[in-house]
Amino acid sequence: EPVLYIVATPIGNLADLSARAQEVLGSVDYIAAEDTRYSGRLLAHFTIKAPMISVHDHNERQRSEHIINLLAAGHSIALVSDAGTPLISDPGFHLVRAVREAGYRVSPVPGCCAFVAALSASGLPSDRFQFIGFLPAKSGARLQTLKPYAAHTETLIFYESTHRIVDSLAAMAEAFGGERYAVVARELTKTFETIHGDTLQNLLEWIQADSNQQRGEFVVLVHGAPASEQGDQIDPEAERILHILAKEMP
Ligand code: SAM
Repeated sequence: EPVLYIVATPIGNLADLSARAQEVLGSVDYIAAEDTRYSGRLLAHFTIKAPMISVHDHNERQRSEHIINLLAAGHSIALVSDAGTPLISDPGFHLVRAVREAGYRVSPVPGCCAFVAALSASGLPSDRFQFIGFLPAKSGARLQTLKPYAAHTETLIFYESTHRIVDSLAAMAEAFGGERYAVVARELTKTFETIHGDTLQNLLEWIQADSNQQRGEFVVLVHGAPASEQGDQIDPEAERILHILAKEMP
């Protein structure tokens, strides 16, 4: 049976490519990759040789047709992205939808995902969270995107790159308040892995003061708004009466 496998690849440390991922990548007829040169190096490291097909944001819809034709001809295909799990801030959604609609099996080979790794080591509440991914590049749009999340009580999770980490932390401090606690997880599984938590204002100052901390890949996790924020807003008059009543209590 032809299958489209969705294969997670490492986010830095090559040893994180699972045994099953190696087995599947070694057995498929084609490997569809976001960047064939970049993924080619990973595959070469594991001496995996399969013809590659490029599937990126700009050609995904056309390539989906081609891949469905290959499945129809009985070939199995693996989809990989540059790092981590395909479709998570990466291409693949249109392909997976089209392949499922065409009636072929899509099967995940799970593994690394930067935000799951970051959340698991952040110490922030992990029972409920919202993954927001990359923020818009323009400062106005960035702030507009952030503002509606200010009252959210679940952990908020963002992706960021070297170029915009300072601007994004500044925008978060503006949207959520400088006192909000957050964690910056940088270069996970790599040599300079850093996981640092503080208030947004202190994180901003810390990262501005050390240009080394501005390099690499980041997950930013922001503590949700306190759940009691709305509930605790007791009417001052009610509070005064409660105070009087409390004094009268035996
Ligand atoms: N598909 C990937 C996943 O499963 O996490 C995400 C791809 S997205 C294009 C790349 C972003 O993921 C980076 O800008 C960064 O925010 C995050 N990321 C990837 N690798 C990371 C790492 N080793 N440490 C921290 N963040 C990382």
